[in-house]
Formats: sequence, C-alpha cells, structure tokens
Amino acid sequence: MGRHIKNYKDRFVYLSREGPISDQLMKEQETIAILGAGIAGVATAYYIGQTKPGVKVVLIDKNLPLSYTTSKSGENYRNYWPQQCMQQFIGHSIDLMEALRVRYGSNAFEMNQSGYNFITHTADKYIFGIQKTKGDKDTIQEITDAATIKKEFPYLDKGIQKVVSLKNAGKIDVQALGNLLHREAKKRGTRFIEGEVLTIDCKGSTFHIVLDTKSDLTVDKLVIAAGPFMNHIAAMLGMRFPITNTLQHKFIIPDPKKIIPRDMPFTIYTDAQYVNWPEEEKAFFTADEKWHWLLQEFPGGLHIKPDGHGIKLGWAFERADAVPTWEIPKSDIFPQVVLRGASRFIPQLGEYAETIPSPLIQYGGFYTRTKENWPLIGPTELSNVYLVGALSGFGTMGACAAGELCADHMYGKKALPGYAAHFHPSRYNDDTIIRILRGVNSDGQL
Ligand SMILES: Cc1cc2nc3c(=O)[nH]c(=O)nc-3n(C[C@H](O)[C@H](O)[C@H](O)COP(=O)(O)OP(=O)(O)OC[C@H]3O[C@@H](n4cnc5c(N)ncnc54)[C@H](O)[C@@H]3O)c2cc1C
Repeated sequence: MGRHIKNYKDRFVYLSREGPISDQLMKEQETIAILGAGIAGVATAYYIGQTKPGVKVVLIDKNLPLSYTTSKSGENYRNYWPQQCMQQFIGHSIDLMEALRVRYGSNAFEMNQSGYNFITHTADKYIFGIQKTKGDKDTIQEITDAATIKKEFPYLDKGIQKVVSLKNAGKIDVQALGNLLHREAKKRGTRFIEGEVLTIDCKGSTFHIVLDTKSDLTVDKLVIAAGPFMNHIAAMLGMRFPITNTLQHKFIIPDPKKIIPRDMPFTIYTDAQYVNWPEEEKAFFTADEKWHWLLQEFPGGLHIKPDGHGIKLGWAFERADAVPTWEIPKSDIFPQVVLRGASRFIPQLGEYAETIPSPLIQYGGFYTRTKENWPLIGPTELSNVYLVGALSGFGTMGACAAGELCADHMYGKKALPGYAAHFHPSRYNDDTIIRILRGVNSDGQL
C-alpha cells in the first residue's frame, strides 16, 4: 500500500500501489468517500461496486482496514432476533454471506454452523424473545427433559431446566470476509487512503475532506461508516445521531482441565444473577463504594464458547455511555466477574475463578447502538450524505445486508426491503415506526 501524496493540478492526490487516484478527483464520474474501513465500510464499498459498477469509491481510514472494532468481534452469527425487522435483516445478511461463499468459493471465508444454546434455570422462562414459528421447527430445538439435558450437556449445572438450541447460527471469520469484500471492491475501482478525517466542508454540491496527512480530496457523496466515531464525523457536518457507545470486553484463557468440550455450541446463560462472591470479597466490595456495582444484579447474556484449545468468554453487561477512544481500556476485574458468573451454569469453571489459567488475552471494543438496538442505515438530512452504522454487537453478521442496503439507498433500482424504513436515520420522525419502537421490550443484545 503506497502512502505517497503529491500535488496534482493544485490538488493533493494519493498514490497507491494501484496507481494515482487523480482519475477519481479530476473525473467526470461521481466520486464517493466512505469514511471508515471497518466491516461496514468495506461491505458498503463492495455492494456499491455491485450495484453501480464504475462508480469511483475512496475508502478512508485512520487505521488499516478492519483493524478497529471489527477486529474485536466475537465472530458469532445467529438468525434469531426479537423483532421481525432484525430477524429479516440478519437472515438476509446470512443469505448474502452464503451467496458470497458460492460465488467466491467456500475457502474465501469460514462460516461454521456450530449453533447456539440458550440456557436457563427456569423451565417456564420465555427465552430471549424467541417464539417458534412454523418454519423454525428444524432449526430451533427446545429441551426441557432433565435426563436429556444431563445426558447431552453433562458440563451444565444440574439445575438447568431448559436448553433452546439454534441451528442456523455459529461463527464467521470476519477478517477473511472483510478481506474478500475489500479485495473485490478494489477490483471494481475502490481505492484505500490511510488518514484521519479532520474536517469536511460542504462546497456547493461537493464535499472537501482534509486528512491529518495534510492531503485533501473533493467528492460528490459521503458515507459515514466510522463505527463508534459516527457522531465525531457527523459533527463536522452539523449533525448528531441518537447513539451510545458502551465498552464491552471478552477474554480467552487456556482450558487445562478440559472443562469445555471442543464441539460445545456458543452457550448463553439467559438468567440475570447476583455474582456469587466469596464472603471475604463481598465484605471488601461492600466497604468501598467504588466496588458496589459488583454486588448488584447483572443481566443475562453471559456467553462462552471453545476457541482453539482455549475458551472465549464475554458478558456485555456494561450499559454506560462512554466517549470512544482509540486505545481500548482494559478491566482487571472483568475475568473474575465472568468466571464467577459462569460457574452458575458450568460449575467447574469456578475452579478457574480461583486461579485464572494463563495466558489470559483480554480485548474489547465499543458497541455503538441505538436505544432499540436497530442500526442506522440510509440517507441523512444532508443531501448526498449517507450513514451505515450503529451495528452494536451484530455488525459482523449484519455487515453484508447493511452495506447492500446503503448501496441500494444510493443507487438501487430495486424496491428497498421491508426493514429499510425501520433502520432509516430519520425513523424517529415516522409515526408508524415510533409506534413499533414503543412496543420493543427486548433489544436482543448479547
Ligand atoms: C467485544 C465485541 C464483540 C463483538 N462480537 C460480535 C459478534 O460475535 N458478532 C457480530 O456480528 N458482531 C460482533 N461485534 C460487533 C461488530 O464487531 C461491530 O458491530 C462491527 O465491527 C462494527 O463495524 P464498523 O465498520 O461499523 O465499525 P469499526 O470496525 O469501528 O470501523 C469504523 C472505522 O472508522 C474509522 N474511523 C473512525 N473515525 C475516523 C476518522 N475521523 N478518520 C478516519 N477513520 C476513522 C476507524 O478507524 C474504524 O476503522 C462485537 C463487537 C465487540 C466490541
């Protein structure tokens, strides 16, 4: 990847290995800048290339493509969501990923239908808003018989009363998927520019972008795909969107006691709980206000899956809105909280809470989300400025449908899908959508 900038007819142009992008800047053809080369940005570049071949796309990122939130993804996918719009959106995204694997070969990126198991200690619990519909019978299985649970899932706590297994769910190699989309987009003319967007000025019907590399470019259309920094970019254009950024962590540890079977599906404990701290620690946390949060009730959603020879664990319990940062802060207490919480449903993991196996690899990122946990995709109040973001904890599985929808808003000749109105950035002005939003009582976050 080249980084050479030179002055070209009074404009700075970027020279990449593929050649100068001067043709994009001095052209008659329309130029689009996609601000952010995470999975949302590269998917949008790919689907613009498919929808409108020949249009000139410049992907701009402060970092290497796919290296910020996208690189932190747990890489899980599932086609079960509490609301129909999300169900259809993710279902379509899974179809698009499967179509990519047909088109470019199944080696292009791994997609493994390893399943999800939602579990609870309460037999009559309505798990995670999942309602069985007719067509689901082969893909959702509900087990409530104690003997069957014990036989099939011997590692689970004896008191687990229900296991809901999702079959159309599993894991995706997000780096390979992103690389494929980026590579194919490049074949259709997309160029990548490394640099941080500092300012954007509207000049007549065009946008003048200045980067921290002192280079600048003028484009006809903008797509904001900046992940947690959506409002940072939006502010440059005088806009703001109703999102929050919540910091979520995951960690990987070895499994020397071989507690987790290698073929265990992604297993999610759906019950809320008070973490079972030893008395001494409880007294310590009680004495200091700073630790009181550890004694409060934690939501359901703690999840575990095998990862190579180790175990990957996460629990997206954080709800506080944070200011996004490029460096992601670590949480020393997080592995303790999660392992103690996990011992509720896989009791043997309590042994790891006492002495955490090393090396422990912790990482994290921001869930950028709306209150209802639906994404923001489509045109903004500013002409020729589009948005693809607020992909929360579903951006890996939803990226293809998100990129396609953004491209369809820009150039699509076909009718938009039913979920387009639900995800439209101006949906909060639409009475029909507002009525639906009032009825949303489960946000589907894991
Ligand atoms: C811990 C964790 C686990 C997750 N697990 C899953 C999962 O299992 N399954 C799933 O589907 N999803 C998961 N997600 C969600 C998924 O990772 C995100 O939704 C997705 O990566 C968001 O992609 P994005 O392109 O919108 O944002 P990003 O990947 O953050 O990309 C935005 C890009 O914009 C760039 N940028 C921002 N501002 C500027 C600027 N001023 N100038 C230049 N560039 C800029 C950034 O450098 C960045 O590369 C998880 C997320 C986290 C944090």
